[in-house]
Amino acid sequence: MAKYVYSFGKDSTDGDATMKNLLGGKGANLAEMAKIGLPVPSGFTITTEVCTYFYANGHQYPPELEAQVNDAMVAIEKTMGKKFGDHKDMPLLVSCRSGARESMPGMMDTVLNIGLNDRTVEVLAKESQDERFAWDCYRRFVQMYGDVVLDMKPKTKTDIDPFEELLEAKKHKAGVKEDSELKPAHLKELVKEFKAAVKKQTGKDFPDDPMEQVWGAVGAVFGSWMNDRAIVYRRMYGIPHEWGTAVNVQAMVFGNMGDTCATGVALTRNGATGEKGITGDYLVNAQGEDVVAGIRMPKRIEESLNKDMPTSWEEFSKVAMILENHYKDVQDIEFTIEKQKLWMLQTRNAKRTGFAAVRAAVDMVNEGLITPEQAIARIPANDVTQLLQPVFGGAGLKGKKEIAKGINAGPGAATGQIYFQPDEAEAVWQKKNDAEIILVRLETTPEDLRGMKVAKGILTSRGGAASHAALVSRQMGKACVCGCEAINIDYKTETMTIGDKTFKKGDWISVDGFTGKVYEGKVPTSPSEVLQVLFEKSLKPKDAPLYQCFQQLMSWSDRFRKLDVRANADNPKESNEAIALGAQGIGLTRTEHMFFDHIDDFRKMILSETIADREKALAPLLKHQQTDFEGIFRAMSGRPVTIRLLDPPLHEFVPHEEKDQAELAKKMGIKPADVSRRVKELHEFNPMLGHRGCRLGIVYPEITRMQATAICQAAVAVMKEGIDCHPEIMIPLIGNITEFRNQEKIIREAATAVFKKAGVTPDYLVGTMIELPRACVTADKIAEGAEFFSFGTNDLTQTGLGISRDDYGTFINEYREMDIFSDDPFQTLDQDGVGGLMKIAVEKGRSARSDIKLGICGEHGGDPASVKFCHKIGLSYVSCSPLRLPVARLAAAQAAITEKKEKAAKKTSGGCECCKDGCKCCCCCKCGCRG
Ligand code: ADP
Ligand code: MG
Ligand code: MG
Repeated sequence: MAKYVYSFGKDSTDGDATMKNLLGGKGANLAEMAKIGLPVPSGFTITTEVCTYFYANGHQYPPELEAQVNDAMVAIEKTMGKKFGDHKDMPLLVSCRSGARESMPGMMDTVLNIGLNDRTVEVLAKESQDERFAWDCYRRFVQMYGDVVLDMKPKTKTDIDPFEELLEAKKHKAGVKEDSELKPAHLKELVKEFKAAVKKQTGKDFPDDPMEQVWGAVGAVFGSWMNDRAIVYRRMYGIPHEWGTAVNVQAMVFGNMGDTCATGVALTRNGATGEKGITGDYLVNAQGEDVVAGIRMPKRIEESLNKDMPTSWEEFSKVAMILENHYKDVQDIEFTIEKQKLWMLQTRNAKRTGFAAVRAAVDMVNEGLITPEQAIARIPANDVTQLLQPVFGGAGLKGKKEIAKGINAGPGAATGQIYFQPDEAEAVWQKKNDAEIILVRLETTPEDLRGMKVAKGILTSRGGAASHAALVSRQMGKACVCGCEAINIDYKTETMTIGDKTFKKGDWISVDGFTGKVYEGKVPTSPSEVLQVLFEKSLKPKDAPLYQCFQQLMSWSDRFRKLDVRANADNPKESNEAIALGAQGIGLTRTEHMFFDHIDDFRKMILSETIADREKALAPLLKHQQTDFEGIFRAMSGRPVTIRLLDPPLHEFVPHEEKDQAELAKKMGIKPADVSRRVKELHEFNPMLGHRGCRLGIVYPEITRMQATAICQAAVAVMKEGIDCHPEIMIPLIGNITEFRNQEKIIREAATAVFKKAGVTPDYLVGTMIELPRACVTADKIAEGAEFFSFGTNDLTQTGLGISRDDYGTFINEYREMDIFSDDPFQTLDQDGVGGLMKIAVEKGRSARSDIKLGICGEHGGDPASVKFCHKIGLSYVSCSPLRLPVARLAAAQAAITEKKEKAAKKTSGGCECCKDGCKCCCCCKCGCRG
């Protein structure tokens, strides 16, 4: 019989940490904690397979489930020594908690205090000798159950929440401010009123039967897998909708039974900076959700838990270390202290910023806890870019007014305009994708996710380092300052007031997530610590701890990776920066960028009517280009440099406004009408597929000749200075070998002429960019001539998908919303389509020329998933913009390590690494090999 229910607790535990796919992260880790002897309230997990079944069978459960749940309930009763729904002795209460394979904080629903009704509440009051506590639990339960299970949660910001309204009215009547000041009599009245509200809105009585309550909650948790915010979250983090969630039913323990009780959330290392030591938030005499919800300002564990509860603190810090050593990773822990007894409710690998990820991983290697390989594998490659992002500091802060200070929750510097409503922020961003927004909220909730996503920074007045705002912004890598109590926010008037100064919606502020400081107006940024060491040389490595971590991680990555990394760079400055960030060569120099620096000469060439005129106009350009190339060759001192010949259509270089055309005519000494006629001639309906790339050099061979001559003369000049030089001349947009042969002939003739005259012959290659489907499918033919291929995946995506990058903005958002595309194909390589074309080209290219050099120079060269794909299909290098180089280095190392692991796993078990610890079905096996 299929096993759908897995028990955990002191007496016996069925699952363990390796079973995340089946039990969800929360369930698997609860089982693991129970297994290693930590204090976990007993409970059971209903597997993710039931969720899949639930959605495949019209919200029905497998028939075997009920009996298995009943048995598991009995097991909890035995271990905890209490009975569910007991009318005589202390009753057992349970929570019902969601838990997917990867944690989705706050995205799905949880119900606490299940099992209470008018009779059990009396027993709870008597046995706990605390009437207020019992009725407070009951009040919370009816409210949570109503919101989550009976779907009474307000749907929009303007809907009223019947429970909140009744609660407010009660507080008003009682003349108190805080929920905690309500007397038992008030709470009793509230429960009655809540239940009446349920009856009124749903037409049904609130369920009294404890088991019926459990099933209601289980159904609601499974149902919450498909709520809007969970779907948005999964899309954002690439979690497949098919995974489903597990449900955990667990004995309740109480942090709200007086001042010897508490509840809290902690990290074993600082989630923002990675520094060693427990940090976190807790509340005395409170229940679970209060801490994360930001309703009451929590206390900081590292500051006062040891004073408030010395014995519990000691036990807790011990358990936290056990967990970190056991999982060998930073842990994010939820716990409750009931009358001085510690209970563990959750542990998971902590979400962290890029800073913390790098710092903690490098520290752990140095502490001997993990290997360099493990450190590399666990840092999301994109996260290292955070270490290069600009910060506030130095001269930029001069004259800037610090207006408030909060908790430094998500590092980074952000300047933007204040918005208070997440949906408005999103709307502003939809209109203008480069809008700079600071989202200012009392606290954030999962509903605010879309607004948080588009904000540059987040500022909240409530909530601590473990609040929702802090957690989510850390994961998104956004600057966040939270718990900034000095700020008074008024959503109605859309203002925030600090002291006597009021800020309105749209006003500019700046937040520094490193220091927690908030500034008035725009604050200019300065380079990050890493770049101060590498580019500016204004900091010494020994004075830059973050740089040291970065450098250590990069050197380990270089040790493991097989792919070379190159940079896309157009001038000596960029070339130097690229080398500082680890470039082993240049994969793309765009020659047209140089033409913009000498635009008048270039325009003269375009306006020439005869070949003789054109050649005359090209002469000064040759000089300029040669100088530019010499600079790059010198900077790269012997590393290979790929130079692409002129690519964009000529109309991009001429003025389109009448006024500018008249000015140009004057400068060139020709008639304005001649300029405008030439501009009109150059007009194309679809320039992306027009007269560009090699088609220019074929119609205007003198341009190709000039560029080849400039490259070769520059190489010769530099070699004569004693600097080695390896130019690779790249012809763009080749679709046919005949095009290649045409251009190759011109290039080789120019090269021979230059070298003969100089008496020096550098090593040089002539190759092509592969950016047309025709080039891919005829790559064997093209490789007969081309000595290297470089995949221009920007154009290959445009031509392969038939989607213009300049126009796809009008529909890509809808495509992503509707899951028609899981990723933006211009950011992450479309591996099946464009990647499929690349595979064909690689295979055919190699069949004709076994030692052909293969690289990629599109934007995708700096995207982790695409880099890993390039490793898989056996390219020799990836090339990306200099600031993406660290990402490429790390991703390339990760690809090599994964490959090594997969090979080892195949040898030992015949299954692949990712499937080894779980299910091998088509939706679980990530790599598609199905074990
Ligand atoms: P989330 O996934 O949103 O964190 P959880 O299932 O972890 O939701 O529940 C939120 C909080 O509720 C927990 O951090 C914990 O404080 C409290 N909680 C859940 N189950 C129990 C329980 N059995 N006893 C006491 N508190 C609980
Ligand atoms: Mg939790
Ligand atoms: Mg191109």
